[in-house]
Amino acid sequence: MTDTFQIKIERSKTTSKPNIDFENLDFGKFHTDHMYIADYNNGDWHDRRVIPFQNLSISPATAALHYGQTVFEGFKAYKAKKSDDILIFRPEAHWERMNASLERVCMPYMPRDVFMDGLMALATVDRDWVPTQEGASLYFRPFAFAMDAFIRVKPSENYYFIIFCSPVGAYFSGQLNVKIETKYVRSAEGGIGFSKTGGNYAASLLPAKEAQKDGYQQIMWTDAKEHKYIEETGASNVMFVIDNVLITPELTTSILKGVTRDSIITIAKDWGMKVEEKKVSVQEVIESIKNKTLQEAFGTGTAAVISPINVINFEEIDYQLPSPTATSFSTKMTKALHDIKYGLVDDPYGWVVKI
Ligand SMILES: *Cc1c(COP(=O)(O)O)cnc(C)c1O
Repeated sequence: MTDTFQIKIERSKTTSKPNIDFENLDFGKFHTDHMYIADYNNGDWHDRRVIPFQNLSISPATAALHYGQTVFEGFKAYKAKKSDDILIFRPEAHWERMNASLERVCMPYMPRDVFMDGLMALATVDRDWVPTQEGASLYFRPFAFAMDAFIRVKPSENYYFIIFCSPVGAYFSGQLNVKIETKYVRSAEGGIGFSKTGGNYAASLLPAKEAQKDGYQQIMWTDAKEHKYIEETGASNVMFVIDNVLITPELTTSILKGVTRDSIITIAKDWGMKVEEKKVSVQEVIESIKNKTLQEAFGTGTAAVISPINVINFEEIDYQLPSPTATSFSTKMTKALHDIKYGLVDDPYGWVVKI
């Protein structure tokens, strides 16, 4: 069967949906009945198909497993509150970023239709999987990786592109205590930090584990050269409200260009708020906590959207931050994003794609 997207669709004969407790959805634990897959060989993407979710059979020499030529994305679809529509949040922005990531690790360009048509076909086939519980969503995980069965270090000639999806519940980050990291680095300027590629996450695991032993859920990363400037927190971008100004590290090659970050900056500017994208020094942040001009600090990303930071640790000292209130910027922004994503208000930015 071929549909209007010229994508072959093979429907699963079974469904795992009845076995899943939609009231208790751990992040990333479950997957839907289908996945989308396309092959890259002879310089082009071929054989686009939606098939039953299944394991892959790959050679032990598969290049991606050895040298990390991999790229991923992550974004969500929401069940509209006032209609039967499924609303996907900013998939085009994720497609564009995927291409920026692919280019950096020498992987082939992903044409818009290979990404978007596959996404639409998969979302249509599995549309009943989008949870209806408050705060829940269907998380999409597109990724591509090198398939050459050849262990010389060089760009692969064969790749897979896959999208699968996972129903996820509302994400409560709880009290977020973070430690400013001045020993390890996640990424360095000129490196691959801006690319959503596997190695960055491997680099972050050990420092995160050590911080967690000391009671900090996440690390606040600083620049690789001097450890003087704040970059990100965990696998999220980071923002501060100081003296009513929204301040966030400017984008460099060592910082991931978050779609949530961009959405928040866009809305904040529309609200008439002053926004500064600049180098943010650790010194400046610590001073602003001491002199009580820091009002809020939070991480931003697709998974948790906005995660208010409770404690920042720097040089063995825990600095307690003010608790968010109903009138805090982060509270109002969380609601503004929520209402656009669930179709409760107009989407003046054209961010939401309807199915
Ligand atoms: C994915 C990611 C983010 C957040 O990006 P969003 O597009 O907002 O989800 C931030 N930092 C890192 C390192 C990431 O991997």
